[in-house]
Amino acid sequence: MIDALFRKSYAESMLITPSQLVDEPLKLDESIAEGTIEYAPDIRQINPLKITGKAELLLEHRGSREVVEDIRLRAHVHGRFEQLCARCLDHVAQTVDTDMDLIFRPSGADGEAGERAITEDETEIGYYESSGLSLEDAVREQVLLTLPGRAICQPDCKGLCPHCGINRNLASCECAEKPIDPRLSVLAGLNVGSKA
Ligand SMILES: [Zn+2]
Ligand SMILES: [Zn+2]
Repeated sequence: MIDALFRKSYAESMLITPSQLVDEPLKLDESIAEGTIEYAPDIRQINPLKITGKAELLLEHRGSREVVEDIRLRAHVHGRFEQLCARCLDHVAQTVDTDMDLIFRPSGADGEAGERAITEDETEIGYYESSGLSLEDAVREQVLLTLPGRAICQPDCKGLCPHCGINRNLASCECAEKPIDPRLSVLAGLNVGSKA
């Protein structure tokens, strides 16, 4: 019910606020369409990203008066992605199939001391703005943590020819056979260009 109302006002972004979680955890069964989240220039989501799990409120008592409203997000994230090979720029299929368990504190709750060390368990701490915790932002971070920083299409990817740019997995060129004088490489590039 709350969820439905909420999504009406935020068609693009799902925001989770402590007030939604006071009575009971919020069940998540979401599907985020491809193109909704921008990950990185070389990462593209290619099917709807499924998020199932829950968000719950954790009250952190600090001293006798201060209560910090933390949001714990536990969810399974599943979706398919394409990354660009770091060597040949070909597409590399990737599947994200991972569990996330993160705690978010209101931004500013930790004052000037900044992000404090995680205490009780290994759960990581993030921060949410006063408007609420953006599910998209949290999921985006999780996907970026899950995918390799540098994808390679195959272990022996030959990459692109630095001289003519040909994909050496697909074709060969003669550039490698003749030693390239760095002073001439610009001209060599021009020659190839004028032939095309
Ligand atoms: Zn490659
Ligand atoms: Zn070449």
